[in-house]
Amino acid sequence: MASYRNGKGPVKVDRTQPGATANLRASSSFKSRTSNVRRASSGANSDDHVSGRVRVAVRLRPQNAEELVADADFADCVELQPELKRLKLRKNSWDSDTYEFDEVLTEFASQKRVYEVVAKPVVESVLDGYNGTVMAYGQTGTGKTFTLGRLGDEDTSARGIMVRAMEDILANISQGSDSVIISYLQIYMETIQDLLNPENDNISIVEDPRTGDVSVPSATMVDIRNHKDFMELLRLGEAHRVATNTKLNTESSRSHAILMVHIKRSVAEMESDITSENDHSSHMGNTFKPPIIRKGKLVVVDLAGSERIHKSGSEGHTLEEAKSINLSLSALGKCINALAENSTHVPVRDSKLTRLLKDSFGGTARTSLIITIGPSPRHRAETASTILFGQRAMKVENMLKIKEEFDYRSLCRRLEIQIDKLIAENERQQKAFEDEIERTTMEAHKRISEAEMNYSDALEREKMKCQMDYMESIKKLEEKWMSNQSKYGNSGFTNGSRGGKGDNHVYEDVTELQKMLQKEITLRKEAEEEIHNLRNSQLLWTEAGANADVVKLKKLLDDETHHKQKLEEEVQLLQSRLSQLTFESGQPRYTQYEDQGNGETSSIANIHEQVGLQKILSLLESEDPNVRLHAVKVVANLAAEDTNQERIVEAGGLTSLLELLRSRSFDETICRIAAGAIANLAMNETNQELIVVQGGISLLAMTAVDAEDPQTLRMIAGAIANLCGNDKLQTRLRSEGGIKALLGMVRSRHPDVLSQVARGIANFAKCESRASSKGTKKGRSLLIEDGALPWIVQNANNEASIIRRHIELALCHLAQHEINARDMVSEGAIWELVRISRDCSRDDIRSLAHRTLTSSQIFLSELRRLRVEI
Ligand code: ADP
Ligand code: MG
Repeated sequence: MASYRNGKGPVKVDRTQPGATANLRASSSFKSRTSNVRRASSGANSDDHVSGRVRVAVRLRPQNAEELVADADFADCVELQPELKRLKLRKNSWDSDTYEFDEVLTEFASQKRVYEVVAKPVVESVLDGYNGTVMAYGQTGTGKTFTLGRLGDEDTSARGIMVRAMEDILANISQGSDSVIISYLQIYMETIQDLLNPENDNISIVEDPRTGDVSVPSATMVDIRNHKDFMELLRLGEAHRVATNTKLNTESSRSHAILMVHIKRSVAEMESDITSENDHSSHMGNTFKPPIIRKGKLVVVDLAGSERIHKSGSEGHTLEEAKSINLSLSALGKCINALAENSTHVPVRDSKLTRLLKDSFGGTARTSLIITIGPSPRHRAETASTILFGQRAMKVENMLKIKEEFDYRSLCRRLEIQIDKLIAENERQQKAFEDEIERTTMEAHKRISEAEMNYSDALEREKMKCQMDYMESIKKLEEKWMSNQSKYGNSGFTNGSRGGKGDNHVYEDVTELQKMLQKEITLRKEAEEEIHNLRNSQLLWTEAGANADVVKLKKLLDDETHHKQKLEEEVQLLQSRLSQLTFESGQPRYTQYEDQGNGETSSIANIHEQVGLQKILSLLESEDPNVRLHAVKVVANLAAEDTNQERIVEAGGLTSLLELLRSRSFDETICRIAAGAIANLAMNETNQELIVVQGGISLLAMTAVDAEDPQTLRMIAGAIANLCGNDKLQTRLRSEGGIKALLGMVRSRHPDVLSQVARGIANFAKCESRASSKGTKKGRSLLIEDGALPWIVQNANNEASIIRRHIELALCHLAQHEINARDMVSEGAIWELVRISRDCSRDDIRSLAHRTLTSSQIFLSELRRLRVEI
C-alpha cells in the first residue's frame, strides 16, 4: 500500500476562500490549526479504499541549468516539508502560505517512488475492475512528461508512470483469459487525433445513453501481449505526436496527450480460490454459473501547460488556439471548482477534455493528480495557480464503482461444449448398453441349452448306471446262490479250511462259510418249526391229561432248545469270520471305508497304515467312480495334515490328483475334493512349482470354468491364491489363465469364493509390487492388464471385512507404482484409496494408503484438480 493514501476529509490546512490570491493563507493561521489536521497513518489499513476522493501529489522539479544561473541570488519560492506532507509557498521574505497534500515529492524523489505513491494504487484498482485516472497538471517545463511519459531507454530508473503501469498490468493478468488493449490520443484545438494512426485525426466521443459511459470507438485499439509491443507503440505515438505538432506548427505543450488502457479480466481465473472454497461438492455447479468479467480502464493524461490559460492572449497565439487551450483547461478548472464546491451544475460538456474525463472527476474512477511545479521565484504566480488547482481537486469526491459483468457468451460456449460431450457420452453408453444386453441374452441362451444338454446327459448316464448296477447285483446274487447251492451240496460244514493264500482261496472260504451259514439258518428254521409244532401238541396233550408223555416231550424240547442255542452261537461265530475275511479280500474293502470313513480321520489314518499309501493312490485311477471317490477322500484327508504332505508328493499323489482334474468325465465331487487336496499341498513353495510344472494352472483354470458348486470354486480359488503368493510364478499364472480363472470365479457370489479370490489378488499384487521395486518387472500390473481393476474397485468396500482387507492391501500395492496410477485414476480406484486413507480401521493400511497417494504426482494432481484434501 502506498503511504500516500489518506483518510477522508479535508487535508488542506487552510480553507480556500473565493478569489485566487485570497486562497493563500499565512502560516500563522496554519499553526493554530495543527491539532485539527487529519492525516492517515502511513501504510495503515484504513478504510480509504472505499473513499473515492481525488488524490493529489505535488512534485517539485530540480533547478535547471538556466535557473541555477538566473535564480542564483534568489531564494526558491517553495519550501517542501515532505515528512509533514506540506508545502510552503513564499509570499515574501517574511511570510508564506502552507498547504498540505496527499503526497509531497521533493526534487530528489525517484521515478520509482513517484510511480508507487501516485499511480500504483490506481493501477491496482484498475486491475480489480475499476476505472482509474492518473493526470499531470502544471506549467510547461515543470516535468509532466518527465513524470508520465519517460521511456527509460538508456536508464531504466528513469521510466515514467506509463511504462511502469504497463509493466505492473502485464505482470498481473493471465495471458490466456485476460486482455489488455490500448489507444493513444491527443486533443489539440478541440479535435481528437489518433496518435497511433495520424490519418484518423477527428475522432468523436460517443456516450452510452444507458450507462452514460464515454468512449472513442473509432480510435485505434491495439491488443498488447507483451511489454515490447507497448514500448513500440509508445514510441510510435510519440513520433506521431511530434510529426503532427510540427505539421500544425505547434508544440506538444499545447496539446493534451491521453493514453487509454482497457483491461478485461475473467474473475473465475482470478478468484477461483474464493469461489470454489465452499463448493467442493460439485464442479458441475460452476459450469452453470456465468463467468464474471471485470473491465477496468486506465487513463493517463499529460495535460497541456497550465500557463496557457493565462498567457495565451499575451504571447501572440492565434485566437483559435488560445481559445481552444483555454477551453479545455479552463473547462477542466471550472468542473473541478464546481465539484469542489458541490455545485449542482458541473459543466462537463463544455470541452472534449472534460467529456473524455467525465468519469475521472466526479465519476466512478479512482483518480490521482500529480501537480508539477518548478522552484523559480520568477514563476511564482504560475506555481501558486497550480497549487490552487491541486487544492481544489483534492476536494472532489468520486464514487468508485466496480465494472463487473457476467460473461454469458463464454458460459454459453462452455455449456454447448458440455452438452455435446454429454450427448456423445450418452450415445456411447446407449450403444454399450444394447451390446451388453445382446451379449447377455446370447450367453443366457447358450447356458440354458448347455444346461439342458448336460442335464439330459447326466440323467441318461444315471439311468444307465442304475440299470447296470441292478443287473450286476442280480447277476452276483444269482452266482452266489448257485455256488452256495453247489458248495452246500458237495462239501458241507466241515470244509472250512482256507487252503492257501490269495484272493481265490479267500473267496472259496467265504463262499463255503456262507453256505454253511445258510445251512445252519435252514436247520434253525426247521428246528423252530418243530418246536412250534411240539408246543402245539403239548397243549393238546395237557388238555387230554397225558402227563407222562408231557415230561418226555418237555425233555425233548429242552434238548432242542439247547441245540438251537448252540447253533445260534455257531452262526455268530461264522458271521464274524465272514466279515473278517471280507475285509481282507481286496476291493470290497472300500465299502467298508465308506462306512467308517465319513470324516473320521483316525480310522482313515488306520486304513492308510493298513492298506498303504501306494495302494490308495493307485485306487485314484480306478475305473469305478465310487472307488475313485473314496480314494480321493482318503488322500484329501491325509493331505490336510502337514506331516503327510511330503510323503504324498513323493509317492506321486500330486500328479494323481492333477490327473483327476484332467480326466474327461467331469465329476464335480471328485474335482472338489481333489482341488481341496491340491490347495493344501500348494501351501509350500516346492509343491507350488511342481503344480505349475505339471500344468496345474491350466487344469485348475479349466476346472474353475466347469465347476458350479461354491465349495468347489472355493477350493480352486484357494489353490490359485496360494500360487499367487509365489514370486516366481507371476508370469505363468497370467499366461496360463490363472488370473482370468480367478476373476471368472467371482460369478459365484459366495463370500467364501470371493474371499479366496481377493486373497489371490492381494498375494499377486504384493509379489508384483516387490518385483517392480526390485526392477525385475516393468510395465503395468498384470492384474490391470487382465481387467481385474473394476472388480477390485467394486469390492474394495465389501461388507465382509476379510475381503475388504485383502483388496485394500492389493490397492495399496498397485498404487505404489506410478505406471499403474493413470488406470487407477480412470477406473476410480483413487477414490477407494482416499477412502482407505481416511476410514480404514487398520492404522498401517490407512497410513500406507495415505503415503502412496501423496507420493504419486498423478494422484496428487488429480486430487488437486478435483480440490480434494487428503
Ligand atoms: P513538461 O512536460 O511539464 O513541459 P518536461 O517533462 O518536458 O516538462 O520537463 C522539462 C525539462 O525538465 C526536461 O528536460 C526534463 O528532463 C526536466 N525535468 C523535469 N522534471 C525533472 C525531474 N524531476 N528531475 C530532473 N529533471 C526534470
Ligand atoms: Mg510535456
